[in-house]
Amino acid sequence: MKLTIIGTGYVGLVTGACFAEVGHHVVCVDCDEAKVKMLRAGGMPIYEPGLEELVKKNVEAGRLSFTASTQEGVEKSDVIFIAVPTPPMPDGSVDLSFIERVAREIASSMTSYKIIVDKSTVPVKTGDKVAETIKRYCKAKVDFDVASNPEFLREGFAVDDLMHPDRVVIGVRSQRPVQAMKDIYTPFNAPIIVTDINSAELIKHAANSFLALKISYINAVSVICEATGANVQEVANGMGMDNRIGRRFLDASLGFGGSCFPKDLSAFIQISEQLGYDFSLLKEVQRINDGQMDRFIKKIIETLWVLKGKKIGVLGLAFKQNTDDVRMSPAIELCHRLQKEGAILRVYDPKAMEKAKAVLKDVTYVDKMNDVAEGCDALVIATEWPEFKKLDLERARKVLTHPILFDGRNLFDVKEMEALGFIYKSIGR
Ligand code: NAD
Repeated sequence: MKLTIIGTGYVGLVTGACFAEVGHHVVCVDCDEAKVKMLRAGGMPIYEPGLEELVKKNVEAGRLSFTASTQEGVEKSDVIFIAVPTPPMPDGSVDLSFIERVAREIASSMTSYKIIVDKSTVPVKTGDKVAETIKRYCKAKVDFDVASNPEFLREGFAVDDLMHPDRVVIGVRSQRPVQAMKDIYTPFNAPIIVTDINSAELIKHAANSFLALKISYINAVSVICEATGANVQEVANGMGMDNRIGRRFLDASLGFGGSCFPKDLSAFIQISEQLGYDFSLLKEVQRINDGQMDRFIKKIIETLWVLKGKKIGVLGLAFKQNTDDVRMSPAIELCHRLQKEGAILRVYDPKAMEKAKAVLKDVTYVDKMNDVAEGCDALVIATEWPEFKKLDLERARKVLTHPILFDGRNLFDVKEMEALGFIYKSIGR
């Protein structure tokens, strides 16, 4: 099938590459001309495991192309996906101006029937607004359908998640676009759920908020573990073996971040409020998450006392493993908070240093993981990169002025670290 994706970011580019991989012909549109130029020249604007190879292969096969022209994208396909940002506003509600602008642009380029599919994460009832906007701005007065197809990929695992989704959700207002939408996804061999648009939009916000809730739940449990000497990992293992609960998203940490959970949570709280419901449970999820970072900083201050002038090594800047994305990264927030206390930072991340440079200044970016601890008063682990588990601990202990390690991701065993001579502070253990 001929498909267009407007917005070639983490979602749009991976979706485009995966659609092409299963045989569709895909045009990826982005208003950022530099990005389009880079992709056309074989460059990669983001890091995502397996993505570069997939893009290259499908560009060479003639199934994937890039343009900065929405009009070209609309002309070339019958199904147009929207994958532009939906960032938070200062009050926590969603900035829908990117969606509205794309809806207008699509409308003014349409000369025949199109299915317009929203893949961006949007508040419930956005589909209705998109349909109204397209109707209003479509000069050619052609027929169209809107659909909602929320995306559930995880950054760092996006290609795998797209190729093997747990489920595909398709929200529609009529039966007309259903078969085409099913045809797009048939090659992925995943269960397809067809709902009304409001339900599809709600599935995404409800799912992300629930996952955030699960993280905050275990983080709250971690506080009780610390107060009692219990081990949160053992508690999580014991809970997680219950099939009704499951082990995933039960890792205590310095809190969740990233471009999705915090914003989707605030958006869902806001929408609920607008609809007359105080979703106080989700406010508590936010409060617990903020508290996790506060408690971690407090632990550092309690141990090191005055941070002014102290050198601290930080491992990890991305908001989680396997990505270069630093948007709303807890690791970056941690660095800013340590800097505010006067600490001098040496930082390292396997993939996110370039992107971090735009938001984290006045630190020393270190090229190698094992060099970070050099001359530091303490080392902090802020992101759960698997390679950090291979840190040369003997060397770290020797080059740190004091062998102190704060582990915000529980990567090491407490007893082993203590046996190695570290003062080792982790979460909920
Ligand atoms: P992103 O910022 O990585 O990419 C968005 C792209 O859209 C950018 O390249 C930007 O230049 C482009 N763009 C903006 N306005 C445009 C316009 N008018 N025309 C063409 N291109 C335009 O964002 P993302 O992380 O891919 O997220 C996109 C949406 O998907 C958001 O709603 C997000 O909540 C949702 N989502 C994200 C993830 C994730 O893990 N990143 C997962 C699921 C859903």
